[in-house]
Amino acid sequence: MSKIKNIGVLTSGGDAPGMNAAIRAVVRASLYHELKVTGILRGYDGLINADFIPMDGKSVANIIQRGGTVLKTARCDAFRTKEGRAKAYDNLKKSEIDALVVIGGDGTFTGANVFAQEYDFPIVGLPGTIDNDLMGTDLTIGYDTAINTVVNAVDRIRDTAESHDRLFIVEVMGRDSGLIALRSGIGVGAEAIMIPEAKTAVSDLIKRIENGRKDKASKIIVVAEGDEAGGAYNVGKALEKKFPNYDIRISVLGHIQRGGKPTCMDRVLASRLGVAAVEGLLEGKAGVMAGQVNKEIIFTPFAGAIKHINAEQITPAWLKLAEILSM
Ligand code: ATP
Repeated sequence: MSKIKNIGVLTSGGDAPGMNAAIRAVVRASLYHELKVTGILRGYDGLINADFIPMDGKSVANIIQRGGTVLKTARCDAFRTKEGRAKAYDNLKKSEIDALVVIGGDGTFTGANVFAQEYDFPIVGLPGTIDNDLMGTDLTIGYDTAINTVVNAVDRIRDTAESHDRLFIVEVMGRDSGLIALRSGIGVGAEAIMIPEAKTAVSDLIKRIENGRKDKASKIIVVAEGDEAGGAYNVGKALEKKFPNYDIRISVLGHIQRGGKPTCMDRVLASRLGVAAVEGLLEGKAGVMAGQVNKEIIFTPFAGAIKHINAEQITPAWLKLAEILSM
């Protein structure tokens, strides 16, 4: 029998669509197993300031379809300090919370890992980030929604690009990872995709445009914000110099990529992983992230999940595929 009686749940780092579905699943699974469940507001900030709210089945009603996070989220520098984490532990003890589910990205798991080791505290993580940059899960909660948002936005831009024979450079999120750019770029039929992993030089891009089909007047170039060339504006400047006759426009999609209703895929993933996190804790799992790999639930130690390189997702084969399709 598990000693766990009260599970705390928080969302941390950048918000991602599907976080609410994950919270709902954690709450409902806890209640199903006759546990108490406590919502912690604004991530680690709420842990340090004892911003706790009791949750029941009703408190998560009608949130599965909403983007953002009803528990709010924050970046919290105090949790990076020993004193901050000591306060957090104190508050958990006082409120008799004896396990945590943390929903976030690599920073959230780095913090959870330090805390779990310092205080031997049971924590299971859920991958909640639009970046899909974690190991131990094929998909993170929020990624599917984000790439579909990008595809919907760029489809609209394509209408204008086609009508006016314009070249659009569209910047999408991804400071360290070009995965959103690569997958959505393939999805919209981009003429070129620039991502940090491929280190595409602007000179190569120019060559591609020069060698591209002459009967194709509209072009969409998808650029990840973290690309070597320095984002859409820098790429735009370089192309303007080289192709003064092109009608070049820049569109930075920005924060629209984070919000919005989660796709069914994200809702189902979040729901399944949320239940797995609670049941994992009851089975004695700790210091791990729950993920889905090849349709199976697996638990990966935090240190393994945050390795950052998800090399399987950006391979030369994927880059080649994008190149073949862009002709
Ligand atoms: P995303 O990348 O999707 O925005 P994230 O979880 O990576 O999500 P971060 O802002 O990097 O977001 O991290 C969230 C919080 O985790 C930080 O504000 C901080 O409180 C905590 N954290 C990150 N790194 C550490 C660390 N080394 N030690 C303790 N806490 C940390």
